[in-house]
Amino acid sequence: MPDVATPDASGPSGDAAATGPAEKKEHIALLGLGHMGGPMAVNLVKAGYTVAGFDVVPAALEAAREHGVPTAGSAAEAVAGADVVLTMFPSGRHVLDAYQGEEGRAGLLSAAGPDTMFLDCSTINVDEAREAARLAIEAGHRAIDAPVSGGVVGAEAGTLTFMVGALPEDFEAVRPMLEVMGRRVVHCGQHGAGQAAKVCNNLILGVSMIAVSEAFVLGEKLGLTHQALFDVASAASGQCWALTTNCPVPGPVPTSPANRDYQPGFAGALMAKDLRLALNAVQSTGVAARMGPLASEIYDAFAAEGGAGRDFSGIITDIRDKSGQ
Ligand code: NAD
Repeated sequence: MPDVATPDASGPSGDAAATGPAEKKEHIALLGLGHMGGPMAVNLVKAGYTVAGFDVVPAALEAAREHGVPTAGSAAEAVAGADVVLTMFPSGRHVLDAYQGEEGRAGLLSAAGPDTMFLDCSTINVDEAREAARLAIEAGHRAIDAPVSGGVVGAEAGTLTFMVGALPEDFEAVRPMLEVMGRRVVHCGQHGAGQAAKVCNNLILGVSMIAVSEAFVLGEKLGLTHQALFDVASAASGQCWALTTNCPVPGPVPTSPANRDYQPGFAGALMAKDLRLALNAVQSTGVAARMGPLASEIYDAFAAEGGAGRDFSGIITDIRDKSGQ
């Protein structure tokens, strides 16, 4: 579920739709109608925005249409006449290729009209986000990076958190539409700052989940009950989101994924991806980080060894298995 500790993801997005002011709403091309982009498009349509959706996978297009999202026959058709081009892709490579075009196809930057707002909500490298913004601005457009946390549940409920890197005036321009899809919208700074906030947060989250899991396994070895450790640490200096919301053992927090055999939640594959992005940022900035790179290594192994589709708190089962009887 959340890759940033957000409040609970309950509550429909209807509020945002109901408060829609009388001003003209932007025409939005939404490309990448996957797990996240699909429901985000649905919420924009419900709030009265004109949306043209597109995805390279026909099944994603079909699913979007079934949920009431108008779709276009091509990326170029989707962005024609759009005020905002929102992308929700798997990686930075997808974003840069789509912006610039590949295999002889024109890119989004040349297909869009002048001064279009390029709003990328994918989770990508900070350097890639800055490069995407540079390319967009060079092509006569505006650019924003706005990665999200809150997972599919948050995308469906319209309760995502947006971390935004943008010029102040561009941030203000997109804030109303982000508030349709999310509950918290944070302006983190200039281009790339949204991605920077996201990788920094997820570095904390990855490291702290491993620490909490190691502490529970150590507690088991020392004869402590899970509840006793939870009661102490949750009210002491060990308190953190990994413990009090996403507790890796069943029992103390009944809503945590550990109580449903580690069904995500926030999948191990996504934690591994986000920690790789953090690692790239650590390496490119020369930060003397040790825990972040180690957490990245640990979650890569977890994802490769069967944890990709499990909640990332399932790391505790790996630690326990490797700890012997
Ligand atoms: P996804 O794979 O379900 O969706 C991505 C979609 O983009 C796919 O349908 C793919 O076909 C489409 N696509 C790729 N290239 C395209 C192109 N050139 N034109 C049109 N469509 C294209 O992924 P997702 O789970 O929706 O995640 C999207 C992004 O959001 C990722 O960067 C991910 O890290 C981030 N994110 C995901 C979650 C989550 O819980 N799933 C949470 C927070 C952030």
